[in-house]
Amino acid sequence: MASSALAIVPSTSPLDRLLHAVESFTGRRPRRSGNGYRLPCTVCGGPSYRSYKAAASEATNGAILLKPFCGCTAADYVHAIGLSLGDLFPVRLAPQTPEERRIARQQARLCYVSAAVRVLHHEAHVLAAIAGMLRAGSALTDELAERLQRVVDRVEDAKATLT
Ligand SMILES: [Zn+2]
Repeated sequence: MASSALAIVPSTSPLDRLLHAVESFTGRRPRRSGNGYRLPCTVCGGPSYRSYKAAASEATNGAILLKPFCGCTAADYVHAIGLSLGDLFPVRLAPQTPEERRIARQQARLCYVSAAVRVLHHEAHVLAAIAGMLRAGSALTDELAERLQRVVDRVEDAKATLT
């Protein structure tokens, strides 16, 4: 009994989900075989599901390779146990739970904030440089005036990001 990894509850891998569904539907425990499992056919294996006529293994990307050797299709096989072909593939890696989404949003916001702070820091140095030039007697050329306007624009953009 202790050998039964299948009895351990929830794992989100498609293979574990399939194995659980097959076991609870057929009452038969999937058997390890090579890199995968042998399973009774959920379509034509009833009522006893004694003969193990299908194979399932996990591809490197986490998808399940499901092959009934009895002539039934993989689609019929999974439909019989309330799953769809999409259930043979790993869930997308995007955040799933509200908490994961909250953290992802927070991290994205942190990136924006730190970019905005870098802009403010840079523009402050531009201001200091221009002030130094003016103090040293440089004229306020059109070019410098335009650059000062760009400082204002960039600070406004940063403010929009931060507020
Ligand atoms: Zn079959």
